Amino acid sequence: AKARGKNNFQFFTSELAERAARHFALEGDLRQAVARQELVLHYQPRFRLSDGAMCGMEALLRWQHPTRGLIPPGEFIDLAEESGLIVQLGHWVMGEACHQIRLWREAGLEPPRCAINLSARQFGNEGLINEVQAALSETVLEAQALEVEITESLLMSDPDRAQQVLLRLHTLGMAIAIDDFGTGYSSLAYLKRFPAQTLKIDRSFIQGLPDDRDDAAITQAVIAMAHSLEMRVVAEGVETPEQLAFLKAHGCDEVQGYLLGRPMTAEKLAPLLPREALA
Ligand code: C2E
Ligand code: CA
Ligand code: CA
Ligand code: CA
Repeated sequence: AKARGKNNFQFFTSELAERAARHFALEGDLRQAVARQELVLHYQPRFRLSDGAMCGMEALLRWQHPTRGLIPPGEFIDLAEESGLIVQLGHWVMGEACHQIRLWREAGLEPPRCAINLSARQFGNEGLINEVQAALSETVLEAQALEVEITESLLMSDPDRAQQVLLRLHTLGMAIAIDDFGTGYSSLAYLKRFPAQTLKIDRSFIQGLPDDRDDAAITQAVIAMAHSLEMRVVAEGVETPEQLAFLKAHGCDEVQGYLLGRPMTAEKLAPLLPREALA
């Protein structure tokens, strides 16, 4: 048993070393990803339940790696966050989304508000407000063209600072959404402090609808609570007609999910966008 334990240990360490090496290589690649133009944004549409209109979209980052193919953000955002590269990536995302909105408008389209995800380090970055303003002015866009999504847990990790930063973004005219709601244990009293207009119910609660009683109860409670604070509610990760029917029946305002539209390239999204009315 002793020998076997030793082998296991060796196996374990080499496995760890391999993982560390992979991690390290990926970080090196990621460092160059912006310059090599390997990053892309996909856009997922969001729909209003009252009339079915597309009322927003979310920009979601992907990495077109030269040998590993398309890498989803779940596989590199944490790495980017730990290494500090997220500030550079976030800067790129902001600029790229603004540039894309400008291109759509020049093609005679009227894209609805585009939401951008902010992670902890970006949110803590002193330069954030200037960066947002620069991206908007370079593309001649009004701040109303954008929305920021901040996770509930990020808000709760430093509520005073979060409140300050959100107030400044809100004053510029940006819309603010609280993302992954339901996972961060915040109270109604806390939510009132933030100038957020939208609450996104985490996909983990939507998944169990309509049969899971807990998920159904939580979803209904979140909708009621958000409405009492005069916030709009978006359900994320809607995959089935039954989930959609439940959300509609219980007064949810907006939905996003594979059932209605996956994240897609800017080119694929274009036909879904409203056209500018002819003068
Ligand atoms: P998130 O902000 O909660 O984004 C929603 C995620 O759910 C996206 O995954 C989206 O593709 C996925 N999704 C949407 N509808 C459905 C559905 O019906 N079913 C299922 N199973 N999934 C659905 P994605 O694109 O892989 O992004 C994962 C996370 O990575 C995001 O979660 C966000 O936290 C982060 N992320 C993505 N882009 C950025 C970015 O530009 N900056 C930062 N800081 N984080 C980003
Ligand atoms: Ca999000
Ligand atoms: Ca989310
Ligand atoms: Ca349950």
